[in-house]
Amino acid sequence: MSSSSGSGSSGAAGTTWCVLVAAGSGERLGGEIPKAFAALGGRPLLAESLERLDASDWIDAVVVVAPPGWEEPAILLAEELVASTVAGVVTGGETRAASVAAGLAEVPAEALVVLVHDAARPLVDDAILERVLAPLGEGYDGVVPGLALSDTVKRVDRDVVVETVDRDGLVAVQTPQAFLADTLRRAHAGEVTGATDCASLVERAGGRIRVVEGSPQLLKVTTRDDLALVASWLSDRTA
Ligand code: C5P
Repeated sequence: MSSSSGSGSSGAAGTTWCVLVAAGSGERLGGEIPKAFAALGGRPLLAESLERLDASDWIDAVVVVAPPGWEEPAILLAEELVASTVAGVVTGGETRAASVAAGLAEVPAEALVVLVHDAARPLVDDAILERVLAPLGEGYDGVVPGLALSDTVKRVDRDVVVETVDRDGLVAVQTPQAFLADTLRRAHAGEVTGATDCASLVERAGGRIRVVEGSPQLLKVTTRDDLALVASWLSDRTA
């Protein structure tokens, strides 16, 4: 199964699409199930970002990229959430770039803007969506959230410091990342080896990427501790 339709498909309506990549294995989280289906606040981690994106007025349609063999649970989850903007659930690839490409293939030609978001960053909200979408009309090919580094940064080789890197001008980049749809498609048609985000592919193709203020809450869940931290932020909000 390479692709299947989602719940309550909204078809090709709308100009701003979101590819929600959730196909990582999440090895560092441990456990038998992929990271997107690890429990966060009593439901799959994927539910948090999916529900938030579905509820946002900034997004017209969402394509969920599921781990191989987990397409059906992803469709059921979208149905349970009554996520009416979900236009499709597709199977992810071996790398993040391959998963984004699988999602992009479901985005219709009429879409003008594509956001790509990591399901591993559950706490996406309207404020960050607005921040990454707003500058797209100002001549940029893409917009990414970034956080200035507060720690000293060193390059190391087999645990030995090679150099201390000047952290001025360095940012840690997050998702959601917003792109002009055609630019992102062209960037993905080229060489994608080694890319850990979509912006780097657009940069390689000569595109201009703007950085806006990111958010510590957009933490990417990688370890059990990250999962516990995000769960505690969520329960603080609902307390
Ligand atoms: O592996 P990492 O945590 O950096 O992945 C970032 C995001 O990309 C996650 O939401 C993960 O599910 C997704 N991903 C994917 N397909 C892959 C690898 C990662 O959709 N093959």
